[in-house]
Amino acid sequence: MTSYPPAIDDFGYVDPPETAWDESRPDTRVDSQLARAEFAAGQIARATAAQMAAIARVLAEARRHPEVYVALTDEPTKRQIDIAVDAAIADLAMRLTMAEGTVMTMARQADLLRTRAPRLWSIFLEGEISVANARCVAVTLESLPENSESDGTLDGKALELASLAPARFKDRMRTLRERLHPRSLTDRHTEAACGRRFWRDNDRDGMAWLGLHLTAPDAETAWQRIDGIARHLADAPDETRTLDQLRADVAADMLTGRSDPATAPRVTVGVLVPMLSLLGLSDEPATLEGYGPIDADTARKLTAHAPSFYRILTHPVSSTILDVDRTRYRPPADLKRWLALRDGTCRFYGCGRSARTCDLDHSKAWSKGGTTSAGNLGHLHPRHHTVKEESRWRVEQHEHGRLTWTSPTGATWNSDPPPF
Ligand SMILES: [Zn+2]
Repeated sequence: MTSYPPAIDDFGYVDPPETAWDESRPDTRVDSQLARAEFAAGQIARATAAQMAAIARVLAEARRHPEVYVALTDEPTKRQIDIAVDAAIADLAMRLTMAEGTVMTMARQADLLRTRAPRLWSIFLEGEISVANARCVAVTLESLPENSESDGTLDGKALELASLAPARFKDRMRTLRERLHPRSLTDRHTEAACGRRFWRDNDRDGMAWLGLHLTAPDAETAWQRIDGIARHLADAPDETRTLDQLRADVAADMLTGRSDPATAPRVTVGVLVPMLSLLGLSDEPATLEGYGPIDADTARKLTAHAPSFYRILTHPVSSTILDVDRTRYRPPADLKRWLALRDGTCRFYGCGRSARTCDLDHSKAWSKGGTTSAGNLGHLHPRHHTVKEESRWRVEQHEHGRLTWTSPTGATWNSDPPPF
């Protein structure tokens, strides 16, 4: 690897005169930028390894000294230690603008590499293996039972192959994993099949992704069936949709129950429609529960013709619903529905879990005089609800559902509900 001083002009560094490049020649201009790119690659790897190590250390401290994150009067219980670790993960996520899942992954990968592939970990700290390849080793180790002999083989081989391109490196690691794995493929498949799942991910322009992680035979059967129907439809003389569009439509018809409405379970999805958009006087976007903004035209059609969608009008509803009975602990159904639309997801930093899977939390506890009203309720999914209730994380609710979160170590973050 080329060693080169940190002379990155756009970032305020200046080349020392003795290493200045001849900028009048295109080949040396290219050389100088190549050297900078290579130098930066080493820095990125070093910095990433250092960050992973620091994250792992914070979590280890939270485990050893839970009192930093949880108020303790006695020896900590296992549950208090777990809550302290969750509170620390949230603290790191907020300070680093990272997903909590990423924080956990980085800590786990640092621990795996440090303990099971120490030689590789040390060259990673030196910036001599790319982040992609180092992570690939961690992922491979994670899927192999700990064994000093096979770990040592993997460590040595990874070191030897460290400079391979990421795709080639990954192939070699997969092959090596097959050779080192002590369990049969049958066993491993049985376990992997327990991880089958169905997921969604919201996209722009009123679109979203749905995905399935299935056993290969189920995936193949489903594909053949959908593809077969799509190809059959494509043969119709007036069909203008592409095969990709047809497959998507066929699968959507099956999954939404449109293809067989008699047996489909009834689904209800809220749509928040601005009054003027409903009347066709404005094109202000509507809000689909669990998703976010959709165009006014789609919203008008959904709420007029599709029985699965119920309509909540913005203006009249927001003014009346917020005035519901505040003397009860349990929020009434219409307030719950409105809050599910206002929040959309868990209100903790960075959390995307749908409001449907969340608890309604009183920002200021009911027992301390907090009211059951839109201005004091917010969605938190169970794990974040526990972190808020039982660690030293604090929340304050302001007007219009805005929350201020303060971590046990003093970092703060303001969370707005999704805009309507
Ligand atoms: Zn959450």
